[in-house]
Amino acid sequence: MTNEEIPNLTAFDEAALDEAFGALERQARGDAATLHGEAAVEVFRLHWLGRKQGRLNEVSGRWLKAAPAEAKKALGLRFNALKAVVEKLLDEAAGAGPSDSALGAALPGTRRLTGAEHPITRTLNEITQVFAALGYSVGVGPEVETDFYNFECMNFPPGHPARDTQDTLVVAGQERRPQRDRLLLRTHTSPVQMRTMEMQPPPVRIVIPGKVHRNDAVDATHSPIFHQVEGLCVDTNITFSDLKGTLDHAMKALFGSAVKTRFFPSFFPFTEPSADVQISCIFCGGKGCRKCKQSGWIELLGCGMVDPVVFAFAAEKQPGYDPKKISGFAFGMGVERIAMMKYGVSEIGQFFAGDMRFLEQFV
Ligand SMILES: [Zn+2]
Repeated sequence: MTNEEIPNLTAFDEAALDEAFGALERQARGDAATLHGEAAVEVFRLHWLGRKQGRLNEVSGRWLKAAPAEAKKALGLRFNALKAVVEKLLDEAAGAGPSDSALGAALPGTRRLTGAEHPITRTLNEITQVFAALGYSVGVGPEVETDFYNFECMNFPPGHPARDTQDTLVVAGQERRPQRDRLLLRTHTSPVQMRTMEMQPPPVRIVIPGKVHRNDAVDATHSPIFHQVEGLCVDTNITFSDLKGTLDHAMKALFGSAVKTRFFPSFFPFTEPSADVQISCIFCGGKGCRKCKQSGWIELLGCGMVDPVVFAFAAEKQPGYDPKKISGFAFGMGVERIAMMKYGVSEIGQFFAGDMRFLEQFV
């Protein structure tokens, strides 16, 4: 233990105080470094913190009392700091371990991660909300579907070549069932159009967000799992103009009011006529850039007027879907494609890899 006498202080400026207290701290640390056993720890405690002969008591008695009034505050601060150091040294020597606050700062596993919306979920919700504001409700249906709902009632009859455009994952061991009852993983959210019409007479306005599956090889833009949002509007006197106006409004709501749309003839089995919709490039404003392959336009969704064949299937359960009395339109878009554009993601697989470094960017 330090035997050096506590000197008398003659100067009380900051530098002199720092030097004096620094020397004491070095002594205390030197003493604490050599402690072995309970008896030695008790000797250290008495030597530094003892009420009568402890060195801190002596410092207090000599320095604090001798200090001029204007130096007492600076001296008191340093005295308290030194006392805290000595007490900590004593705790550590006695095996008390670090304080609670030191523990909280150092221990791993105490940080709680709060959840956040996955970028696909967020995009799904954004699209759904645009149509909810137009009076659409949300339709849901099973991901394991029958051949009838996924294909037949959507005007893909058995053997129709359009089935080949959707490479389908089927449930094994159902060869004995009639084809329309065989189970598969839905390749699009369109079956929910029919399920909804069978449950309610017209008018209908729904959006159908959901997961779909195709036996596609993985590359930068293809995944065996992806998401669609489909929409269906059925009422009296619904025309192609309603379809154009609705989608033009929706694209402006999603991508900004400067976005333009244009429609091209296309083919889908369940709509007639059908169209592909392009929006003006959201990256270059239509001037032409790498993302739009210099065309100024990006193809984003498919749509069309509901084919009378589809209404005929619905009319088997709801006679109100008489194609002579009602009409409607349907549209569909890929959610990953929109999310990739919005967030600048180049590989679709990143959405499903579960890599926290990727996902944390969207918190
Ligand atoms: Zn562009």
